[in-house]
Amino acid sequence: MEKINYKKSLGQNFLYDKNLLNAIASDGLVDSSSTVLEIGAGAGTLTRVLCERAKRVVSFEIDLSLKPRLDELTNEFINLEMHYQDFMESDLNALDLKSARVVANIPYYITTPISFKLVDNIDKFKSILVLIQKEVAERFAAQPKTKDYGITSVILQSIFDVKITRIVKKECFTPSPKVDSALVLLVPHNKYKIGNFVEFKQFVHSAFAMRRKTLVNNLKNDFDKQKIVDALKILNFNENARPEEIDVKNFINLFKMLKNA
Ligand code: SAM
Repeated sequence: MEKINYKKSLGQNFLYDKNLLNAIASDGLVDSSSTVLEIGAGAGTLTRVLCERAKRVVSFEIDLSLKPRLDELTNEFINLEMHYQDFMESDLNALDLKSARVVANIPYYITTPISFKLVDNIDKFKSILVLIQKEVAERFAAQPKTKDYGITSVILQSIFDVKITRIVKKECFTPSPKVDSALVLLVPHNKYKIGNFVEFKQFVHSAFAMRRKTLVNNLKNDFDKQKIVDALKILNFNENARPEEIDVKNFINLFKMLKNA
């Protein structure tokens, strides 16, 4: 097999350590009943471990130069479905992904669009484990009153339990990226009845528009100022509260109170 010519432009940082690959499959909660969605098969090292453990693996890879390698894997495992396609252009409704588990070492350059696509298809997944840059994972999992807590933390935690399961040092990848990574597990929950999720996301964006401003100042173009102050008071917050002080549950409470007002 030809030597791999790693393409930085496609976020190609591959993993070869079998212990780490097994740990990723375990953190991703993969067992013999699982349908797994993988994004970016690369040289197929994680794909192989997933095929050994899962019932069915659906995997995407955009780089056709890796096809000969991955075709060998497809011949070896009848439970593997390879799609040589841009994941962002794929139609997930056509894939029969009911209750699937996502396990993916995702290309850094499209972490955000991939995450949004997964969030928009939350009904198809039992869990989502992604290996991403550590600082992005820390934003996903951040708690109120910390510097990392913001739009991404509130939106993700309003629909998922979010947990960093493991830090993966940059030296574990071939080639090594510049920064460390982390595995983050997202498990959908139904703790809150949010109602209109699209509007809720817009609300959170407005609330954090200027981090240094108070929440009232950030929201006063969208809602009556006094109503915001009153709602905050009912929720036991001061009218000078800043967005990073409001926990996820109270963001949802505030959204509902202001929208119904
Ligand atoms: N899973 C392998 C591993 O862990 O060693 C490779 C992970 S590497 C970080 C990301 C992979 O995603 C690369 O093989 C890259 O070619 C592929 N990729 C990049 N953009 C993609 C896209 N839009 N759709 C599908 N695959 C993509």
